Amino acid sequence: MHDATYFTEQHVAVRNMVREFARDEVAPVASQFDASQDFPWENVRRMGKLGLLGIPWPEALGGAGLDTLSFMIAIEEMARVDASHAITISAHTTLGTSPIVNFGTDAQRAKYVPMLASGRVLGGFGLTEPDAGSDAGGTKTTAVKTANGYCLNGSKRFITHGGVGEVFIVTAVTAPGKGTKGISAFILTKHTCDIAKAVSVGVGHDDSILAMKGFSSGKKEDKLGWRASDTRELILEDVDVSSDALLGVEGQGFTNFMKTLDAGRIGIAALSVGLARGALDEAIQYTSTRRQFGRAIAEFQGVHFSIADIATGIEAGRHLVYHAAWLAQNGHPYAKEAAMAKLFCSELAMRATIAAVQLHGGYGYTKDYPVERMMRDAKIGEIGEGTSEIQRIVIARHLFKDLVRI
Ligand SMILES: Cc1cc2nc3c(=O)[nH]c(=O)nc-3n(C[C@H](O)[C@H](O)[C@H](O)COP(=O)(O)OP(=O)(O)OC[C@H]3O[C@@H](n4cnc5c(N)ncnc54)[C@H](O)[C@@H]3O)c2cc1C
Repeated sequence: MHDATYFTEQHVAVRNMVREFARDEVAPVASQFDASQDFPWENVRRMGKLGLLGIPWPEALGGAGLDTLSFMIAIEEMARVDASHAITISAHTTLGTSPIVNFGTDAQRAKYVPMLASGRVLGGFGLTEPDAGSDAGGTKTTAVKTANGYCLNGSKRFITHGGVGEVFIVTAVTAPGKGTKGISAFILTKHTCDIAKAVSVGVGHDDSILAMKGFSSGKKEDKLGWRASDTRELILEDVDVSSDALLGVEGQGFTNFMKTLDAGRIGIAALSVGLARGALDEAIQYTSTRRQFGRAIAEFQGVHFSIADIATGIEAGRHLVYHAAWLAQNGHPYAKEAAMAKLFCSELAMRATIAAVQLHGGYGYTKDYPVERMMRDAKIGEIGEGTSEIQRIVIARHLFKDLVRI
C-alpha cells in the first residue's frame, strides 16, 4: 500500500519507529519467548518508553496523543514480527485502559491512566468466565452491595495479562434477574505475579497500587500461540471494594464492555494483517532462494498464485482496518465495520500463514523458520474478542437491524 494513500508524515514516523524496534529488539528474541512462554518484560519496558502502551490517550493523561490509525499501524508493524508483543500493545491499551478513559470519573482517570499509558503497570479486561464465553451476558460473578461499596465473588477465564497486570476492569452482576442490564463494571487491582522481576526490570509494578484482599491470578494457560502473552484465570473471593471502584453507571457494565470489544476488534484485525504481512515477507524471501528442479521455486507460476492471493488479501484487509479506524476516530458508529475487519483479517491471517508454511515445505514445519509460529499465533484471531461465528452474528444483526432478533 502506498504511504500517500492514508498516511501523514506522523503515521510514517510511527510505522518506521515500530518497524525498527520490532526488527532490532523483538525479532531476535521472538522464538525464544515463544518457546519459554516467559513474558518479555525488558521489551515491555522499552515499548513503554517509546510510548507504545498509550498511543491514543491524551498527553495530559500520559499518552502519546496520536490517532486511532497510528495505534493500528503500531499493532500491525509489531505483529509482522511477533504477535505476542503486538497483543500486549493492543490488549493493554484497548481492553485494559480504554474503559477507564471512556467510562471513568475524572478521579479514576487521574489515578490509573497515567501509570497505564506510560506502561509502568499493565492492565487487563475480565469478561470471559468458565460458563460465559461467547455468551458473555451469562456472567456469574456477583457484586453484592455492602455498607461502603460492594463484595465481589467469582472467577474469570483466559484473561490477557492476568498474571503480569495490576489493574483490571471486570464485569459482575449487581442486579440479578435483570439480564445484561444487571451487569456492572469494576476496577480491581492486585500486584503483578512476579514482583521481584518487575522491580528489577523497572516495569510492571507501582507502589500506589493496592493489592485487594481476595483478588488473585490463577492458572497460567499453556497455549498454542501468543505464548509470550500472559493468559490466566482471575479469582475473586470476597473482594471488598469501596463504591469508587465502580466504573461507569451501575447496570451499564455489559454495554460498555461491548463498546470496548468493538474497539478491540479493530486491533485484532490490525494484528492479523501484520501476521499475514510477516508470513508474506517470509514466503517471498524463502521461495526466492529455495531451489528445486534447477531453479528458484519462486519462478513457478503456482507459487506466484499463492503469493498474489496473500498480498491481495492483505491490501483488502488493511482497507477494512483503516476504514474502521477512521470511523472510530471520527465519532461514527463502527461496530459492524470492526466485526467485518476482524472476521476478514483473522481468517486472512490463518490462510496466509498456512500458505507460507506450505511454501516452505518441510522446513516450514520446523522451528528453524518463523512461519510455524506465525501459523500458531494466527489461530487465536478467529477466537479471541468474539469468535468468527460471533462476528458473523454481529454483522448480520446490523444488517437485519430490528427486523430479525438473532
Ligand atoms: C489467548 C486468549 C486470550 C484471551 N483474552 C481475554 C481477555 O483478555 N479478556 C476476556 O474477557 N477474555 C479473553 N479471552 C477469552 C475469549 O474472548 C473467549 O475464549 C472467546 O470469546 C470464546 O469463548 P469460549 O472460549 O468460552 O468459547 P465458547 O463460547 O464456548 O464457543 C465454543 C464454540 O461455539 C461457538 N458458538 C458459541 N455460540 C455460538 C452461536 N450463538 N452461534 C454459533 N456458534 C457459536 C463459538 O464460535 C466456538 O466456535 C481470551 C482467550 C484466549 C484463548
